[in-house]
Amino acid sequence: MDRKYATGLMWFRRDLRAFDNAALYHALRACRQLHCVFVLDTDILAALPRVDRRVEFILAALGELDAALRRLAPDAGLLWRLGSAREEVPALARQLHTQAVFANHDDEPFALARDARVRGALAGLGIALVTSKDQAVFERDELMTQAGQPYTVFTPYKAAWLKKADGFYLSSYPVARHAGSLAPRPDAEQRPLPGLADIGFAPSNLSALRMPLGASGGQQLFEEFFDRMDQYHLARDYPALKGPSYLSAHLRFGTVSIRQLASGAHRLALQGMAGPAAWLAELVWRDFFMQILAHFPHVADRAFRPECDAIRWERGKRARALFAAWCAGRTGYPLVDAAMAQLNQTGYMHNRLRMLTASFLAKQLGLDWRWGERYFAEKLNDFDLAANNGGWQWAASTGCDAQPYFRIFNPVAQSQRFDAEGRFIRRYLPRLARLPAPLLHAPWTARPADLTAAGIVLGRDYPLPLVDLAQARERALARYAAARRPVARGKVAARRRR
Ligand code: FAD
Repeated sequence: MDRKYATGLMWFRRDLRAFDNAALYHALRACRQLHCVFVLDTDILAALPRVDRRVEFILAALGELDAALRRLAPDAGLLWRLGSAREEVPALARQLHTQAVFANHDDEPFALARDARVRGALAGLGIALVTSKDQAVFERDELMTQAGQPYTVFTPYKAAWLKKADGFYLSSYPVARHAGSLAPRPDAEQRPLPGLADIGFAPSNLSALRMPLGASGGQQLFEEFFDRMDQYHLARDYPALKGPSYLSAHLRFGTVSIRQLASGAHRLALQGMAGPAAWLAELVWRDFFMQILAHFPHVADRAFRPECDAIRWERGKRARALFAAWCAGRTGYPLVDAAMAQLNQTGYMHNRLRMLTASFLAKQLGLDWRWGERYFAEKLNDFDLAANNGGWQWAASTGCDAQPYFRIFNPVAQSQRFDAEGRFIRRYLPRLARLPAPLLHAPWTARPADLTAAGIVLGRDYPLPLVDLAQARERALARYAAARRPVARGKVAARRRR
């Protein structure tokens, strides 16, 4: 095969696998010798707490990626740098005498700015930056309305997605077939991957959580999920059940391939199976929010709908106290608190509970959704700007295809419906474990004798409710209604023009 470049560099980012990887495939085909690198980017790491499960997740994935590259070509392997990717990538590309650097798209604003800088620096050296779509089935402007506009409503987007998705878009890139182009690691690069302490981090509880890590962990989770996918639509809303796939962190860091997951579900959905169809729809939501972020980058800081920037969220000392109680899982509403405990203890939260806790923050507590969004961003193992922002704006009714502002989840009703026996609540709030199920959803309604029998003193062992639901509902409706009045909207427009 006639190769375009003598030497190239594959720059891994959120695509930590050596199979079905678009950029890796294109790079192997285009170069006679291909080096591979991951940059532990200090522009990102510096902003993280020193204990962060995601950093450990990445290091484990890098170990497996390195091993996988060596299996493809024994002298090959992963090079690594610790520093600013903006500088490290051009420096290494030059040092290795490459003509091209290959990477997969990342449409988060930070990544786009970084890539623009790297592209510019490489261009100054006469080196190309070649990028590919990899983390979505459809991205950017691949799916547009008939009027040529981006989709902002999910249902027609999903219809268009399903119509276009075929073997071409869902088939894997056969990386191994071209592995002969992997270059031997230069002598100066023969050093082991760094450990956690080497990059200034301390261990989290990740290993105690027994979360399957790396590409092998992603594969294991997918195989397990594949066997129960037919039940997904029935089980997915009940946090005590093993309903969802738990693949989100793997999708975030690319230790699984979206094409493999989507094609597996698509095949079964075409046979009329409801579980795979429902799961495929979740993968479509993922693409949907990615293209929303790509087309409307203002959502990273502001409401999708400009009129929602007029909403006057609570401020001041009391608002900060409410927020602290929400973060710590001390709202007095057990399902909300159990959900926050799940997030704080594991870095994961069940989807129904993400919707509930987010709605509770914005609607019942009247707090700015961006406060909650930031907290999730810090804690979630699967934090992804597009999905997190989309979820928060949906729950706060500020988003493109959000739930109506007057739809306010009642945390007690949600608890009775989705954790009827209280199994999830008991798991994460053991202090309430002895309270019988009907009372577990609203402990303040228990008689003193029931509380004594369960060994609970409200206000001491478990908080009294932070807000009254009926009053909170009225306040929320008034808050949203005020922002919809033309006067408030005019003020926002004037603020934006300034
Ligand atoms: P499954 O039910 O098995 O779904 C499979 C995959 O589909 C997920 O791994 C995810 O990649 C994708 N997916 C599912 N639901 C959505 C959705 N609504 N939007 C976009 N993608 C979806 N998901 C993230 O990956 N990262 C986030 O930071 C994130 N923040 C969220 C914040 C809020 C307020 C809400 C309401 C949702 C958020 N989600 C986020 C979406 C969803 O809750 C998680 O993807 C899901 O709970 C992850 O668990 P799972 O892998 O077991 O999901």
